[in-house]
Amino acid sequence: MIQFDHIFKQYGSRTFALSDITATIADGEFVFLIGPSGAGKTTILRLLLRDLHPTKGKVKVDDIDISQLKNKDLYILRRKIGMVFQDFKLLTDRTVFENVAIGLEILGNSHEEIRKRVGDILELVDLKDKSDLFPTQLSAGELQRVSIARAVAGGPKILLADEPTGNLDPKTSWDILSILQEINKIGTTILMTTHNASIVNDMKKRTITLQNGKIVSDKKVGKYDVKHE
Ligand code: ADP
Repeated sequence: MIQFDHIFKQYGSRTFALSDITATIADGEFVFLIGPSGAGKTTILRLLLRDLHPTKGKVKVDDIDISQLKNKDLYILRRKIGMVFQDFKLLTDRTVFENVAIGLEILGNSHEEIRKRVGDILELVDLKDKSDLFPTQLSAGELQRVSIARAVAGGPKILLADEPTGNLDPKTSWDILSILQEINKIGTTILMTTHNASIVNDMKKRTITLQNGKIVSDKKVGKYDVKHE
């Protein structure tokens, strides 16, 4: 479970990027986070990763106040959360297999476990036949599938996706959404930022709308009604 409890975030002495954000996301939910550029969406994801600290308020993951985690215990949080970016952030000098395996190597899995797990995950994203290719040999949609595979390889409970379809055409975007839905069906909580109105309108998932750092709506079945993009 994710809890934002009266979160305020100020960068330097500027105005607040987030103001009094309170929301709970239960295990297994699929939630869209929408809002105009600058509304605070990425800041929310970065707070969850503990890439940033809130100026005020608490972010809890499974009842752990993540601000209180010592650096040596950060792995507890990082194991729970996978992250997907708009620009993929893959290592260009590593193959598809190696990109997906990295997180598992860090977790100390055996060679055999890694082979099996990476194979299974590449199957899930339909890229098993491309495991020996390098990122430059892949399309944008394939790159995003590798990045999803890397994010879920360690079996995180939560997957954060920051504009994962931002660089993709409509058909490829839907392929990515169907993979995210599969991942959600096996119990992974998904929190995804997006500017894609048709995805939000057609998926009929919970949608939290931010504007100027505040939650202006939180609907069980969302509709994309962001103005001033
Ligand atoms: P969104 O993801 O909705 O586009 P962000 O969370 O990136 O919004 O940004 C929210 C606000 O915080 C914006 O006004 C942005 O300019 C500001 N901001 C984001 N990151 C930084 C930073 N590292 N330093 C200063 N201001 C920042």
